[in-house]
Amino acid sequence: MSRSSELFAQAQHSIPGGVNSPVRAFAGVGGDPIFVERANGAYMFDVDGQRYIDYVGSWGPMILGHNHPAIRDAAIEAAERGLSFGTPTAIEVQMAEKIIDIVPSIEKVRMVNSGTEATMSAIRLARGYTKRDKILKFEGCYHGHVDSLLVKAGSGALTLGQPNSPGIPADLAQHTLTVSFNDLAEVEQVFSQYGDEIACIIVEPVAGNMNCIPPQPGFLEGLRQVCDDHGAVLIFDEVMTGFRIAPGGAQQHYGITPDLTCLGKVIGGGMPVGAFGGKREIMDHIAPTGPVYQAGTLSGNPVAMAAGLAALTTLQDHSLYTVMEARVSQLMQGFQQAAAEAGVPLCVNYVGGMFGFFFTEAKEVTSFAQATECNMAQFKGFYHEMLQRGIYLAPSAFEAGFMSMVHSQADIEETIQAARQAFAAVANI
Ligand code: PMP
Repeated sequence: MSRSSELFAQAQHSIPGGVNSPVRAFAGVGGDPIFVERANGAYMFDVDGQRYIDYVGSWGPMILGHNHPAIRDAAIEAAERGLSFGTPTAIEVQMAEKIIDIVPSIEKVRMVNSGTEATMSAIRLARGYTKRDKILKFEGCYHGHVDSLLVKAGSGALTLGQPNSPGIPADLAQHTLTVSFNDLAEVEQVFSQYGDEIACIIVEPVAGNMNCIPPQPGFLEGLRQVCDDHGAVLIFDEVMTGFRIAPGGAQQHYGITPDLTCLGKVIGGGMPVGAFGGKREIMDHIAPTGPVYQAGTLSGNPVAMAAGLAALTTLQDHSLYTVMEARVSQLMQGFQQAAAEAGVPLCVNYVGGMFGFFFTEAKEVTSFAQATECNMAQFKGFYHEMLQRGIYLAPSAFEAGFMSMVHSQADIEETIQAARQAFAAVANI
């Protein structure tokens, strides 16, 4: 038995499911998860001494590679001055100014401790600002484990939401309207019925929690228009796309200006950080300036700010994005070719530093429904073939892949070579 499997068995006695976040348990692919001991650059090393080329990057934050010296040194230096003060600090101001400088739509920003806190607070702010209760989200988009957002569509676009987790009151879920991603007509239909009750639309501008599904041309523009027409707040959840699709996120890449933006993952450089920000007029409704309450004992934590600031400063070298994007397209084209050689139908999506691949005959995957119709058995088989060959992909068919800026040409070639063998091994599943 591997050391990872031993630890997983042990963990299940003291931690629910053996993990502190469900997807880590490998439920989506079967088998035992690997327990990681350390990581450096593009590689993770597990407790059995196996090296993996990592395409998860701690689910996004490791865009500059694991253990990046500038980020690590900044965190150590800050820690030497104290771990937390619960008072304002200069570095919080620097961090806010840095985010405002990089993300086009953000005029004011509030730091929090996770992506979930960012979306939860942004939704509350949108509701407080508009004095409306309903929110609109998209099927297959994940915005953290916020009660109002853990809601899936009912049988049609106009069905009021049903909670998809026990513990969420139906009374709360009924305020969440869920429609299909990339279906502007459905959005318009919902607004024609509930327009003056909807506080906000929240969207992942590139969906990364149902594999990787970019917006169709005109979709994000249409959301902007609908919000303008009905006085609703447009929230981009850029927890994944921020600093990954482009330095200024998907809003910069697609040229759309949301009212509020949620950030997470990347802005902490690996420390637990999130943020929400946007138009000054809306942000000033937050306490203590305004009546909408939001707070956090460890928000703006000095060590997290130091790590995050070092990450964002390093990311201002835009040439890094060119390299990362080239690696993504090389990897996806390599996968497509390797799959074709093995006779495995495969469709790929990618934008910026995010990618996804679907075991499907479809030429294009643009919806949650299509993402769920893929050959899951083949994905699971492929996953383990790759893992055995030292390639660590997200252990679920519904997660985007993340490239870092330090994956080398040789890493990509090694990955494609592994994929060639893995596709061949699963060709008949
Ligand atoms: N929004 C998006 C788009 C996410 O991908 C995630 C996490 N994967 C979250 C919000 C929640 O972030 P966290 O896990 O830090 O609470």
